[in-house]
Amino acid sequence: MDKSKKHSILVVEDDNATIMMLTNSLSPEYTVFAAKTGKNAISAAEKYKPDIILLDVLMPDDVLDGYGILGSLKKSEITKDIPVIFVTGLDSNEDEAKGLSMGAADYIAKPFSADNIKLRIAKQIKMSEQMREAEHLSKTDQLTNLPNRRGLEERLNVEWLSAIREHQPISLLIIDVDKFKNYNDAYGHPQGDMALKALGRCLRNSIKRPRDFAGRWGGEEFLLILPGTNAQGAATFAESLREQVQEMEVPASEEMAQKITISIGVSTADNPPAKDGAPDKGKTEGGTMEGFIAEADKALFIAKKSGRNKICSFSGDSA
Ligand code: GH3
Ligand code: MG
Ligand code: MG
Ligand code: MG
Repeated sequence: MDKSKKHSILVVEDDNATIMMLTNSLSPEYTVFAAKTGKNAISAAEKYKPDIILLDVLMPDDVLDGYGILGSLKKSEITKDIPVIFVTGLDSNEDEAKGLSMGAADYIAKPFSADNIKLRIAKQIKMSEQMREAEHLSKTDQLTNLPNRRGLEERLNVEWLSAIREHQPISLLIIDVDKFKNYNDAYGHPQGDMALKALGRCLRNSIKRPRDFAGRWGGEEFLLILPGTNAQGAATFAESLREQVQEMEVPASEEMAQKITISIGVSTADNPPAKDGAPDKGKTEGGTMEGFIAEADKALFIAKKSGRNKICSFSGDSA
């Protein structure tokens, strides 16, 4: 996240004086948005995706009270992870327990001090950042800094479903280093690691479109997801990548260390609109994401069998 950018807070409150007081004390440090009704609160939260929501519980003129708003926020994919701090005149243990059990991050009883609220906001923001950092680390490969298998699976799932929904083609490249065991044996494991890092950089640089996505699938295997790319586009991409890697200089601790080559298996799902109201499926074995990956794997196997440093696109009869 851009560190120079102010964090933002959405204040949901029906009382003007409280809105004024919170805005005055928070706006030097934060970008403050305010909503006076539940409906506006939910749409503002989706639109601005604030870092924190301060939520009043009692909004007597509204159909939704704070609990109702919190319930809606937690149901939406866009807003469910935004920490909500209840700020309320209700101060019984039961009220507090109800708010926290519904998923509020914190609970502040009125009257409150501005300093107290600022400290609690800062604490929530710090916790969110730590969570995001942990999330990021759990999806990142430490050697190449590319997304790891978990990151790839998550992204492929999203892109796969959206390709089917939007009737767009999607292609997948499985990239495997040729005879990498021999490479390690000849030049040592640390040199092997350098080659994998260089390959990771090459993959990252090969990506031109914002939705294309590269990651390390495991060991010396990498995956490239190409949403909106048909079979021909994917084959062209794969061939160009194969050539780039063949030309790529691998930084070497020993001058004898060699270049690497890769083999690539390509699969494509065309996702044409369904006929006769049949359910949408990708053009793969049973239309599943697992089938889509398996097809790229089969194509990779054929690329290896036909001599390595090759690309192969899956077609039904190549299996
Ligand atoms: P093929 O052309 O059939 O793919 O042959 P290969 O030798 O590449 O395939 P194999 O699966 O037999 O060996 C993969 C090798 O990749 C063995 C393993 O030690 C190496 N490898 C996997 N992960 C790493 C890593 O993180 N660093 C290094 N240096 N080597 C790795
Ligand atoms: Mg109120
Ligand atoms: Mg392999
Ligand atoms: Mg290999």
